Amino acid sequence: MTKLLDYFKNRQAAMLELLAEMVQRESFTSEKASVDHLVDYMGAQLQSLGASYLQRLPQLEAGDFLLAKWNEDAAGRPYLFLAHLDTVHPAGSLKAMPIRIEDGRFYGPGALDMKAGAVIALEAIRALHERDQLPRRPIHFLLTTDEEIGSPYSETLIKELAGHSELALVMEPATKEGAIKTWRKGGGKYTLTIDGRAAHAGIAPQEGINAIIEFAQQALEINRLNDLKYGTSASITLVEGGSAGNVIPAQARAHIDARALTADAMDDLHEALTNLYPKMPGARVSCVRGQHRPPMERRPHLFEKAASIGERYGITIYEAGSGGGSDGNFTAALGIPTLDGLGAHGDGAHAPNEHIIIDSLPRQAALIAALLLEW
Ligand SMILES: [Zn+2]
Repeated sequence: MTKLLDYFKNRQAAMLELLAEMVQRESFTSEKASVDHLVDYMGAQLQSLGASYLQRLPQLEAGDFLLAKWNEDAAGRPYLFLAHLDTVHPAGSLKAMPIRIEDGRFYGPGALDMKAGAVIALEAIRALHERDQLPRRPIHFLLTTDEEIGSPYSETLIKELAGHSELALVMEPATKEGAIKTWRKGGGKYTLTIDGRAAHAGIAPQEGINAIIEFAQQALEINRLNDLKYGTSASITLVEGGSAGNVIPAQARAHIDARALTADAMDDLHEALTNLYPKMPGARVSCVRGQHRPPMERRPHLFEKAASIGERYGITIYEAGSGGGSDGNFTAALGIPTLDGLGAHGDGAHAPNEHIIIDSLPRQAALIAALLLEW
């Protein structure tokens, strides 16, 4: 059963070539035109992989999305692949961090997060399609372009597709040590706004309600919500307040980053943050949630199943988790079996030394192919 791995080892050069083509096409998340160039290229790739359905979903703000399907008429619930094409590296990053291969590593902006993941999934599908071994059920592949800004435009579509899927395969990078991700914290961004009353700090300080002093008391309250041992955090990450050096401040505003491991803990945190009450007479306090992702809770039997399939093909996998979110949070929260971090091994995501371990390309492609064959 190690034949599968040998097969993909022979495909390593072709996989690297595709990865280089993708990295060459820079795709900073907020530069629609450049992301769309990569989308053009990927559309052609998907076409050449025998997809029976290919749709480009135009977007106004982000790059366009691509949805490809194989076996769309087959019975059964689909397997859903999720990958994103956008990166956090602004156009021109290639100059400072050009593509290079060194010590079995491939360096380049967006290589790890997560162009290599897309390469791996495409290669696994290509191989099985060519051998006529794709499972007799629909396979859906969604390429999005807004993950790095929290998937505001693709969230609905992801949930819609995931809702009737058998399994979601998220091609985000593995951990630095090469483990797949079986849990991810949920996270929410909150804006705390405090209104007091302005007054002249010299002539009539007694007439003011100092919003910064109110904030200081709220800050301590919020800080008490941290329960780091259990993975719950409420971090005040940005603060602004006041208007001038001689004015009692009428307003203060803060940004809170809230994270938790379970839906229950996330709900408790939400409850506490949205029910803060003012400490000073006359002050007003409001805390509102913006973008958020539910937690992807660990479901041990999923990892065990994936690990035993890998084992049959000579591939040992490990599991770990992350405090950061991905689109897997959305699918898992719907109760859809989700395997995340199936992409390349490597390090330096979002950083100048971003790279993948080249060996992991064939290894992960073999794992994906095995999962498709045996799940
Ligand atoms: Zn990513």
